[in-house]
Amino acid sequence: MDDLLSRTRAAVWHPCTQMKQLEAAPPLAIARGEGAWLIDTDGRRYLDAISSWWVNLFGHCNPRINAAITDQLGKIEHVMLAGATHEPVVALSERLAKLTGLGHAFYGSDGASATEIALKMSAHFWRNAGQPGKNGFISLANGYHGETVGALSVTDIPLFKSTYAPLLRRTVQVPTPDARLAGPGESAEAYALRCAAALETHLAGHAATTAAFIVEPLVQGAAGMAMYHPAYLTRARELCDRYQVHLIADEIAVGFGRTGTMFAFEQAAAPTPAHAPPLTPHAIRPDFICLSKGITGGYLPLSAVLTTDDIYAAFYDDATARGFLHSHSYTGNPLACRAALAVLDIFAHDNVIAANRAKAIEFTGMLEEVAAHTRVRHFRHLGMIWAFDVADATPGFSARFHQAALAQGVFMRPIGNTVYVMPPYVTSADEMRGLADAMLACLCNPGI
Ligand SMILES: *Cc1c(COP(=O)(O)O)cnc(C)c1O
Repeated sequence: MDDLLSRTRAAVWHPCTQMKQLEAAPPLAIARGEGAWLIDTDGRRYLDAISSWWVNLFGHCNPRINAAITDQLGKIEHVMLAGATHEPVVALSERLAKLTGLGHAFYGSDGASATEIALKMSAHFWRNAGQPGKNGFISLANGYHGETVGALSVTDIPLFKSTYAPLLRRTVQVPTPDARLAGPGESAEAYALRCAAALETHLAGHAATTAAFIVEPLVQGAAGMAMYHPAYLTRARELCDRYQVHLIADEIAVGFGRTGTMFAFEQAAAPTPAHAPPLTPHAIRPDFICLSKGITGGYLPLSAVLTTDDIYAAFYDDATARGFLHSHSYTGNPLACRAALAVLDIFAHDNVIAANRAKAIEFTGMLEEVAAHTRVRHFRHLGMIWAFDVADATPGFSARFHQAALAQGVFMRPIGNTVYVMPPYVTSADEMRGLADAMLACLCNPGI
């Protein structure tokens, strides 16, 4: 294992990591995985409490997903999607259309590329519609949409953004409805509506130069699992309609059941029916939906951008330049699509959304002592996400908590002073109880 660690330091440049810190805090050397567990080269086991950066849904080495990929390997591993097509990408696109009501799927390989695709598609739509001046973007304060240059332009996390600011396009951030920021005595809903009023003020002045508003529905993940009231999305949808601005739902982190519904936007009610059954008729309808992370159950890199018939139609033409000009070598990779289809089969067959609802109630009960701990503020929960802030956290808290949790056999990475849990859906009650005990032990250690 020491050998692997020195080789990784010499040869691998790790993401979101100051490499010098790996001397003091080496990464886990993972040999294999099993359900919710990661197992290192010395055989030590760690509960993957954050689903390997929020991607894993049904555990590591899931037999059903393994079988789907293995079956596909014997057929075709990859073929370019320009000038060719295949059953897995067609079937996945059809199923995503049924689930979301948005019928045209464009594929990328990771979340940031989905953001790039949605932004480019939105601006190109307005150009094709004779309004090339509508090419600006709005996002929420503290939002996160990926770290490639275009995606970073709409991201608002200073640590990731400031250094690269000279490379980025200027975009506008409107106030975040993060419920922690509500005034004394103000409800989450009232605060969300106050933020929506600020969005309206901006749109009223800048609609002519704005292509789209991109949001993480209900939970701003990288901001520290900031949660907000769905009334914000309902109002945002109305305002985007009124001011002719696209609404992009970045469901990369929250899609596929994380917030308790298949997609988070479904929890925002539209004043008039936006969908025909069997979709939730009263859910708002975004103009674009970005999906990635959980889409393959955490197996393979895949992202998708779904959009409406109207937007699709604006590109449908004899002129090549009116078509969407974008491609990635691995667009619609068959192995990744088969993993995604296996994930959707598990959702349907095991009635996962309903099962998670019961599980979430049980798990929340197990976290009562954590929620009531004197160091804990803003304990919050939505679907299969739990988070809280640690009031007296001092610099280095996140790294110390991470190490202390590892010593308890749990893999976690707090964001600043926010501790969060986002376990794979296969996590059992016993495993969750162990996780709750480990967090309590960390909180009770005043040195952390
Ligand atoms: C992770 C994430 C992205 C970026 O996805 P990558 O695959 O890491 O590029 C974009 N938006 C949200 C909301 C995310 O959580």
